[in-house]
Amino acid sequence: SAPTQAPSSGSTAQSSAATAAANKARVKKTPNDFIFGKVIGEGSYSTVYLAKEVSTQKEFAIKVCDKKHLIRERKTHFVMREKEVLMKLDHPFFIRLAYTFQDPERLYYTLTYARNGELLGYLHKLSAFDVPCTRFYTAEIVLALEYLHSLGIVHRDLKPENILLSEDMHIKITDFGTSKILSSDSKPEVKRKNSFVGTAEYVSPEVLNNQPANFGSDLWGLGCIIYQCLSGSLPFRCGNEYQTFQKIVKAEYDFPEGFHPHAKDLVQKLLVIEPADRLGMADMGDLKRHPFYEGVDWENLPQSTPPKLM
Ligand code: ATP
Repeated sequence: SAPTQAPSSGSTAQSSAATAAANKARVKKTPNDFIFGKVIGEGSYSTVYLAKEVSTQKEFAIKVCDKKHLIRERKTHFVMREKEVLMKLDHPFFIRLAYTFQDPERLYYTLTYARNGELLGYLHKLSAFDVPCTRFYTAEIVLALEYLHSLGIVHRDLKPENILLSEDMHIKITDFGTSKILSSDSKPEVKRKNSFVGTAEYVSPEVLNNQPANFGSDLWGLGCIIYQCLSGSLPFRCGNEYQTFQKIVKAEYDFPEGFHPHAKDLVQKLLVIEPADRLGMADMGDLKRHPFYEGVDWENLPQSTPPKLM
């Protein structure tokens, strides 16, 4: 009857208001929820914009992909893989995918904005890093890889271009289009003929030998990055790709004079042909305990104050 219904309809109204609010939060965003600003950069199949969310005034980097272009250039699998992996990641050293949405022409990925851009920019500006900066930034990469590998994900294209820096100068790893999920529930990868995944100077011997990439491929990349941060040059860079590949498959490289001895030992334990023999393969703790990382406060790295890159 009416008197007993009144309160109950009141509480229904309340709960439906709560449900509506919850639903609203879950409702797909649209481009109109953001004010698009400058272009941050362009990739081979995307344009990245700085954008502000209207409701929160929060800044994001929005990656916009033209659907027709993706199909024409056969890049659809890259964006699908990128989304699949980004959705699994929840760690301070990785770019976060906050929202995805689309309109008839485009896909939109709303990402953490890494205000200080690529680590590569700092390497170019400074030529090389000092030991404390190299120790700090490569330790952050070690921690990031430990997390990534614990999820069964291999990045496969680790390089200073894909290591972005947040406003507080901590790393935010990005670019998962060519990453690989080793766990059993993901779809098998489509093998593409005559193509290797990655970047010539950082690619590992096993990938050049048509072996599948594994966690060791990222440890190889880490070895190249440690070498590059300290020396300003790449261990396997040659006049052309063919010569670079020849050196990589033989793990043939030299150290410049004065290369920090602990760092040299570490690089020598990472840049080895057999992936299973690379330091960190059996246990990432082996890497964290290497003398080069002595004094690193692993637990508090994400909250610590980075040494100044100069
Ligand atoms: P490709 O797609 O050819 O591999 P890419 O990875 O550089 O190239 P995008 O991921 O589209 O392509 O990035 C384009 C540019 O935008 C790059 O210079 C990148 O550093 C910058 N960028 C991408 N994501 C972010 C982000 N979340 N924050 C800040 N800058 C970003």
